[in-house]
Amino acid sequence: MRRTFFRIAFSVAGLLITVLACSSYGAKRSSTSGTDSSPITVVIDAGHGGHDRGGIPGQRIAEKDMTLDVALRLRNILSASGYRVVMTRSTDVFVPLAGRVAIANSYQNAVFVCIHFNATKRSGASGIETYFYSRDSLPLASAIHYYVTGVAPSANRGVRRRGYYVLRKTAIPAVLVECGFLTNPTEAAYAQTASYRQKLAEEIAAGVRGRSSVSSGFGTTRVATAESIPLQPYIDQTRVTKSKKSGSKRSHKKSARKKKTSSKPPGSEARAGASDREG
Ligand SMILES: [Zn+2]
Repeated sequence: MRRTFFRIAFSVAGLLITVLACSSYGAKRSSTSGTDSSPITVVIDAGHGGHDRGGIPGQRIAEKDMTLDVALRLRNILSASGYRVVMTRSTDVFVPLAGRVAIANSYQNAVFVCIHFNATKRSGASGIETYFYSRDSLPLASAIHYYVTGVAPSANRGVRRRGYYVLRKTAIPAVLVECGFLTNPTEAAYAQTASYRQKLAEEIAAGVRGRSSVSSGFGTTRVATAESIPLQPYIDQTRVTKSKKSGSKRSHKKSARKKKTSSKPPGSEARAGASDREG
């Protein structure tokens, strides 16, 4: 009897905390991403395109093709789920960064999802990274990263906060997901299969759907429920400059701050996870 009482008490307390957490989150996010019940627009940004192949010079697989394929798959999945979907590009064309941001910022009650694949000279480098910049974007980044790393046979390189142009200039929650290294033989082989790209798209879509289920990082009274997605710890790279790391070409993701030199040694991006932490 006593045990039943405690179980009920805990359930009620848990429910209350969950409701409070959700309502405070809803209030914080309502200006940009709306409530759970209102349909949102998902602006999908396939990285690169046209003359901009993405990746590093000499890279065999064109990043722009992979990003577009995943983006189109994501569009189909989200459309079928009732989302309004807008593409910054749906063919092999070049769209300037400012154009991509302008498209994103012309929608309210929307989120912005950029699809990229990674590249570096060191073929051993591998793994999934998810970037965000604004605080409002962390739940979306957490959810997408949680799902994508859940299926990808790749290392988890963590959620990272960084001032890439497309993240910094967007007024809506914005996330950039690096779906693995096309310069890594294993990850490249996966990326080249349609079934894997479909899986990536499905998991990104799951992240979009689940963004509101991310447990709040505020306070210590979080209650994990079966549906809740853990808020991901993140590596703050807002002080990282547009680096010279491994000669990778990343014009699409200009960093917020510019310094004359990078303190980061070449090849250091290959280091995974928390060891990449800066400053
Ligand atoms: Zn890219």
